[in-house]
Amino acid sequence: GKIQEERLKWLTDNKGVKAVTVLFSDLEGRLHMLDYDKKFLVNSYDNLTFDGSSIRGFTAQRESDLRLGLDWSAFYYTPADIFGSGKVLVFGEVIDKNGGHYSGDLRGVLKSYANEQFAKNGYALNAANEIEGFLFEGIDAERNFAKTGEFVYTNQGGYYHSLPGDPLREFIDLTAEVQRAMGFENEKDHPEVAPSQFEINYTYGDVVTAADQIQLYKLICRQVANQMGMTASFLPKPVTGVNGSGMHTNVSITKDGKNLMWDPAGEEKISKFGWEFVDRILTAGNDLCLLLNASVNAYRRLDPHFEAPNQIKASATDRGSMVRIPIGNEKSSRVEVRSVGPDANPYMVLYSIFKTGLDGKTAQIENLRQAERYLPDNIYTALEDFRSAEWATELLGADVKQRYADLKQASADRCPRLLGTIVKDCEVQFH
Ligand code: GLU
Ligand code: MG
Ligand code: MG
Repeated sequence: GKIQEERLKWLTDNKGVKAVTVLFSDLEGRLHMLDYDKKFLVNSYDNLTFDGSSIRGFTAQRESDLRLGLDWSAFYYTPADIFGSGKVLVFGEVIDKNGGHYSGDLRGVLKSYANEQFAKNGYALNAANEIEGFLFEGIDAERNFAKTGEFVYTNQGGYYHSLPGDPLREFIDLTAEVQRAMGFENEKDHPEVAPSQFEINYTYGDVVTAADQIQLYKLICRQVANQMGMTASFLPKPVTGVNGSGMHTNVSITKDGKNLMWDPAGEEKISKFGWEFVDRILTAGNDLCLLLNASVNAYRRLDPHFEAPNQIKASATDRGSMVRIPIGNEKSSRVEVRSVGPDANPYMVLYSIFKTGLDGKTAQIENLRQAERYLPDNIYTALEDFRSAEWATELLGADVKQRYADLKQASADRCPRLLGTIVKDCEVQFH
């Protein structure tokens, strides 16, 4: 279409651009990057193939040839001091042999869902994620952790606390600056509750952009930290005894620009439509848990003593609830899903939350929003819940569901179960 033509022309005209980095994510949400020479890409953008068998959760050997399409609307200029000079980024979409979206590429699944069922009819699915992380000493902190069992803080402060010259503050400032350069609309940033913990907030966007921005945010944080000789970690619970890191996911739906979550006369000023969305999420609380909390370590975080949820309920105030209703107005009214770890696949997270909230089922549980129901407290229970959930099959299809569960089973089995310490039982994953 028109955007494609414009981008191709821009690429050709801009002599400074040498290569295009194409980004896509595997089934577990790990970001993959392929650099294409600009001239090659301009000539061959409709015939980019790659071997899918080496990407976790993608195809079996016999069907390993996949194609990459380019989503020209997800195109980012990059600051040279962070990404290297002469490069731009574009998100790719994985196409199968028959020319359709490949089912293991959740970005494509999310995009089709949002566009074909909603955008076409005037609806927008919006998300804003609050992504927390830690800044640790050393560029190899996550790998070293496996050996030493220790992370070294870069800052001892706490909530909102840092001096201007502090490494954590410097890191936040640099990251925010890179985000602005790449088109994020930043809102606020601050050191979080735990020592060396940070959170940088930016505005909401349509679900596909929001998920892409999660991937970019983590990439930028890692890269900035690396240049400072440090590590940005998105492990949900890297250190015992202090707060972990969440990725609270705030969702709203608009129809022709009107926020459907809002009703000034509704309970907590949330509309009937909004509460039905919440009820379906709560109904599927167990079914979805493995998708939102995707690592062994994520289950360590789900502890209400550290502002993280362990109960499948909804509340305006209780931060131990899976769903919280933040105070809002007509524009900002939304539902906050708190039981999400920052190492989950963002496309999977947004797809499963929206599809469940909009198309899921509502259980006939008395007082569903306040009932005493708990999230799984370890990945094995979450795996059992997920495998037995019919809703998970409807969401992902039997094949993708099985592949996802098998990957999570394998990562759980790699962790010695009985040692009981976070140090030993977390498999550090780089995504
Ligand atoms: N760090 C907390 C969590 O793990 C959240 C703190 C907050 O409410 O910002 O979810
Ligand atoms: Mg926070
Ligand atoms: Mg929050």
